[in-house]
Amino acid sequence: MLSNFHTHTILCDGKSAPEEVVLSAIEKGFSSIGFSGHAPTDFDDSYCLKDVNGYIATIKALKEKYQKEIEIYVGIEEDAYQRIDRAPFDYLLGSSHYLKVNGVYHQLDCGVDKLQKCLDAFGGNPLALAEAYYQQFTAYIKDRKPDIVGHFDLITKYEESQTDWFLSNPDYHKLAENYMNIATDCDVIFELNTGGIARGIRTTPYPFENLLHILKKKDAKIILNSDSHHKDTLDCWFSEAKKYLKDIGFQYLYTLYHHEFQKISL
Ligand SMILES: [Zn+2]
Ligand SMILES: [Zn+2]
Repeated sequence: MLSNFHTHTILCDGKSAPEEVVLSAIEKGFSSIGFSGHAPTDFDDSYCLKDVNGYIATIKALKEKYQKEIEIYVGIEEDAYQRIDRAPFDYLLGSSHYLKVNGVYHQLDCGVDKLQKCLDAFGGNPLALAEAYYQQFTAYIKDRKPDIVGHFDLITKYEESQTDWFLSNPDYHKLAENYMNIATDCDVIFELNTGGIARGIRTTPYPFENLLHILKKKDAKIILNSDSHHKDTLDCWFSEAKKYLKDIGFQYLYTLYHHEFQKISL
């Protein structure tokens, strides 16, 4: 059963129109697809939905139009720093894209230069940055309980090519594992996010493997998402991901189908 619930379109920072995405999902044989436009924030709207009501209306019209071919859901990707009204949406994807230091919102996933500025705000100490990031994101997860937690360890985005601040440091892993343990005490679904692979930035998904072992040990719920910004990348690395998860010991995934998050065999 193929599905994806982390999908961006031209209504925020994606490259394809919503209908093109739906047609691509149908062509790929998806059972369901969920859109997760970026919810607006007061501090940075450069990549966000400009018209949330228009977005909801557009996706609902597609839901109606293609109801015989595919299940379509209206989700939203909220940033941890700004909560929105979740009522109009089928599900809430909660993610953390910034770190606020001394009143400045530093972007974590918009280029290594911006991430470097964030690191500078922590006196060049990657562990201090990681501690602050996981602390605020985990507090958000515990309090907000989003349906799906987006790209848990986003700060490692550039580790394969441009930064060497986290993954080579055993203390970083201890810290991230500690916070993952805390986050898994909440009844939320964690995504295995293949978006970095589609963008050619990474060869592995988020979260990093040791964090997936914790998810497995804690019997946490996992959903497979592509964080797709283009109609052609909706299922990027999905077959590899299934094998990857099986090798770690997962037997099930979750998907949204018939309006419920349900367990399906891997
Ligand atoms: Zn995101
Ligand atoms: Zn996203």
